[in-house]
Amino acid sequence: MSPSNPELSQPPLRVVVATSNLGKVVEFEEALSGLGWQLEPLGDYSLPEETGSTYAENAMIKAAAASLHTGLPALADDSGLEVAALGGEPGLYSARFGNRKDDHERNLYLLERTRNVQDRRAKFISVLVLAYPDGHIEEYRGEVDGQLLEGPRGVGGFGYDPLFGLPDGRSMAQLSLEEKRAVGHRGKAFDALKKAHAHGLPPRPTGSKVN
Ligand code: IMP
Repeated sequence: MSPSNPELSQPPLRVVVATSNLGKVVEFEEALSGLGWQLEPLGDYSLPEETGSTYAENAMIKAAAASLHTGLPALADDSGLEVAALGGEPGLYSARFGNRKDDHERNLYLLERTRNVQDRRAKFISVLVLAYPDGHIEEYRGEVDGQLLEGPRGVGGFGYDPLFGLPDGRSMAQLSLEEKRAVGHRGKAFDALKKAHAHGLPPRPTGSKVN
C-alpha cells in the first residue's frame, strides 16, 4: 500500500464494467489490473440502445445508465473501425455493420465491400467514459492507424482484429493481449485514464463527490 496513492490507501474503488462484449471485458481487466480497482460485472442488466451521434455520446449513455442502475462508478467503451475508402464506415455502426449477425459475418461483409479497393487505410477508435453516480464524467480517447488486410489473419482478439494490419505486418488478432494493449486504440485510451488516476482520483469540480 502506498500512502501517496489515496485510491490504494482506502478500500478499492468499485467500478462496474459497462459492457456485455466479452472481448472488451478481457481487455478491461488486463488493462486495469495495476490500478487497484475492484471491477464489478454488469450482471443481467441490459444496457440502453446506443442512440448517440458520437463514440463519446454512446459511451456516456452506457456508462451513465450502468452507474445509475448500480449506484457505483461505471466504465464503458464505445469503439469502431473507420475505413477510409468507405468514407469512415462502419464507424459508429461497427457492431451492426450490414446487419450481419456476428463478427465472422461482419468481417466477410467488410471484405466484400472492399474487394478491389486499393486504398486500404483504416483506423480503430476507442472512447472510454467513466461515469459516477453524482453525474461526474471522465472521457479518454485512443486511436490506432492500420491497413485493411485482404483476408483474415490470426485468432486472437475479437471483432475486426483479424482484418486489421499493423506496420510490422501482423494483424491485430496476431498480438498477445499485452501487445494489443501497447499499440491498440483501447490501450491508448486506458493509458490516458491510468495517467489521470495515477495519484488517486483526478481533479473534480468543487462540490461533487465520489460514491
Ligand atoms: P460498440 O463499441 O459496442 O458499439 O462495438 C464496437 C464494435 O467495433 C465491436 O463490436 C467490434 O465490431 C468493433 N471493435 C471495437 N473495438 C475493436 C477491437 O479492439 N478489435 C476489433 N473490433 C473492434
